[in-house]
Amino acid sequence: MKKPFITKEKVEEIVKSFPTPFYVYDEKGIIENAKAVYDAFSWNKGYKEYFAVKATPNPVLMDILMKQGCGFDCSSKTELMLSEAVGAEGSNIMFSSNDTPAEEYVYADKLGAIINLDDFTHIEFLEKTIGKIPETISCRYNPGGVFQMSNGIMDNPGDSKYGMTRDQLFEAFKILKSKGAKNFGIHAFLASNTVTNEYYPLLAGQLFELAVELQNETGAHVTFINLSGGVGIPYTPDQTSNDIAEIGKGVHEQFDKILVPAGMGDVAIYTEMGRFMMGPYGALVTKAIHEKHIYKEYIGVDACAVNLMRPAMYGAYHHISVLGKENEPLDHVYDVTGSLCENNDKFAIERSLPKIDKGDYLFIHDAGAHGYAMGYNYNGKLKCAELLLKEDGGVQLIRRAETAKDYFSTLDCLDISDKLEKLTDD
Ligand SMILES: *Cc1c(COP(=O)(O)O)cnc(C)c1O
Repeated sequence: MKKPFITKEKVEEIVKSFPTPFYVYDEKGIIENAKAVYDAFSWNKGYKEYFAVKATPNPVLMDILMKQGCGFDCSSKTELMLSEAVGAEGSNIMFSSNDTPAEEYVYADKLGAIINLDDFTHIEFLEKTIGKIPETISCRYNPGGVFQMSNGIMDNPGDSKYGMTRDQLFEAFKILKSKGAKNFGIHAFLASNTVTNEYYPLLAGQLFELAVELQNETGAHVTFINLSGGVGIPYTPDQTSNDIAEIGKGVHEQFDKILVPAGMGDVAIYTEMGRFMMGPYGALVTKAIHEKHIYKEYIGVDACAVNLMRPAMYGAYHHISVLGKENEPLDHVYDVTGSLCENNDKFAIERSLPKIDKGDYLFIHDAGAHGYAMGYNYNGKLKCAELLLKEDGGVQLIRRAETAKDYFSTLDCLDISDKLEKLTDD
């Protein structure tokens, strides 16, 4: 059974200062999980987790992870700026972007970040843009076809826009080496939200074999292999969590089997997990404000898809607990909706839940990654606050809620801007 990391009483205390809806993150959970990740890979001397900033771009949360030894994986200039602002520098930043604008390469280079090239043509583009090829460089690999695991889970790299083909990768290493690159990395992200301990070891095996061939054939010195993201979390209550210790062990076995005999036992393993680092440790807390009885039973809450887009966008399941009613029978069936003028604005469809009364607080689980971050402003809805439930039980505001003033602030249309300015002056 999925248990909320916060009680109804605590939420009642919080709403006196910060009204719903809001995100809340569990510092204790984040730290314990990060420690478990580092334990799982402690056999590898150079291991580093580069937290995928796009999952949860909040500097307070990034700082918690940095204190556990994490670096940051960035996909844009503003993410690079956030990483710089929290004090990460040089090789503690990975720049894994695609379709990259020139100015972002310039910025990444200025920070000394490790640049992960998404495409063969980016070698020339990067060299023209920053005037050199960095000594440390990484290339993203796309093997094409389908990526399949024994439990039937699969993904479709052949259909994805990322990475280089195998031939391009070999050619890229040769060219980069001739242009002065000395330390090479290989990166691949072949399946998303995998809830199995098999994904990383399987991917690692493939990349390790590729690394041996690349080093033999091109003479390029492979210094790291980046398994990227894709380690999933159990969104539904019937799924079992990944065991990161087992995953680390599985990667270790492949390492000893493939890299060590090839004389490549000094290769560092990198990961770029987002969802696994933060997903379970963040929740959207929202209040039931309406109930509606037509052809179905509806509960209207004060959050909407603007706050958490995953259910509307890809029908993603997010478990819901009604705070204070965790042990009551699930004898009602509801659609839980937000207020957007979009019929897909539903956090749950025909979900068995306890009887919900107006004023109840709903805890929407597993929203800590790709939750707040995907927010938008459709229907003029404003983004909510983010709070941190600290290890000592205290609560810290780590992002205030957006205001109407924020929403109007980019409008630059003469007298209308003045009128809006007056309307929001209170
Ligand atoms: C999104 C992304 C990640 C993180 O993925 P998760 O599924 O959240 O672990 C890591 N690396 C890259 C390049 C990404 O695009």
